[in-house]
Amino acid sequence: EYADISLKDIDQVSKSSFPLCMRHLFEKLREDHHLKHGGRMQLGLFLKGVGLKLDDALAFWREEFTKKVGSERFDKEYAYAIRHNYGKEGKRTDYTPYACSKIITSAPGAGDHHGCPYRHFSEDNLKAALSRMGLSSRGMEDVMDKVRNRHYQLACTLTFEAVYGTSCDTGINHPNQYFEESQKILK
Ligand code: SF4
Repeated sequence: EYADISLKDIDQVSKSSFPLCMRHLFEKLREDHHLKHGGRMQLGLFLKGVGLKLDDALAFWREEFTKKVGSERFDKEYAYAIRHNYGKEGKRTDYTPYACSKIITSAPGAGDHHGCPYRHFSEDNLKAALSRMGLSSRGMEDVMDKVRNRHYQLACTLTFEAVYGTSCDTGINHPNQYFEESQKILK
């Protein structure tokens, strides 16, 4: 069991333990102070899965969104959906974070940042992102080979193995599993 993630650690943890799909959403949110619906769902449920408490989640999204929209509009348009994801509104369903299969088959449109980078990034953008994760050109070629054969989860697994210098025999099938495996290694 890893400790619940807290707000003050979130930037550091995003760099050390988030899979590429979530790093990308996280960076875009920090950069643009906004994410469209698909991104808010994919990242929001992932953060809930890593143990970000509802109050911290509200503070986290509020901090960014209110740089663009007023806090009144944040409360009216966005806070409800965050509470909803935590099962505090509507039918009170406790929504679960998305698995890779769901993310890979999603269809991000223009201006969307959700989806799986191995599936949805251009080759140049993916290579640049992998290089920022510290992959060598050899490691990158192995990953790109999987991507070209449409083995996106294997590409993510190879990235994991390159980043942490260890094997991941189960393979990556869920962003929260990626996070948990990485936390085990970094402990
Ligand atoms: Fe995220 Fe899964 Fe794609 Fe990895 S394979 S980037 S965890 S959706």
